[in-house]
Amino acid sequence: MLALPAQMVEAMIAHARQVYPDEACGLIGGAGAEGRMIWPIHNVADDPTVRFRMAPDEQVRAFAAFEGRGWELIAIYHSHPAGPPRPSDTDIAEAQYPAAFHIIISLADLVHPSVTVWTIRDGRARPVLWQVKPD
Ligand SMILES: [Zn+2]
Repeated sequence: MLALPAQMVEAMIAHARQVYPDEACGLIGGAGAEGRMIWPIHNVADDPTVRFRMAPDEQVRAFAAFEGRGWELIAIYHSHPAGPPRPSDTDIAEAQYPAAFHIIISLADLVHPSVTVWTIRDGRARPVLWQVKPD
């Protein structure tokens, strides 16, 4: 089960709202199945309202920051500004880092965003239980 600090969940939702109606994206570093650091990344997709592509130079900096602390990439997050809280066919087809969790923040209900966690392996997305860890 993935554990994410409450502050990190709030930061992902805040990022998703900040770039709305574009998709937000970023990386989460940590140890085991516990998130320790969130690294928001600019979405450089041609049409960022319907897909995401992380800025490569920022990805490199995120990995360096994680490694510098003895952590690794444990999750990738992105938002669905209007779509459901599950991976799209494109998300599944283009998923990188099969060992990482995939977090989706759906703003389909702007007042009550939903956060879901998935594994995407071998062309299949499966939901994962996760919990908020008190700060
Ligand atoms: Zn998506």
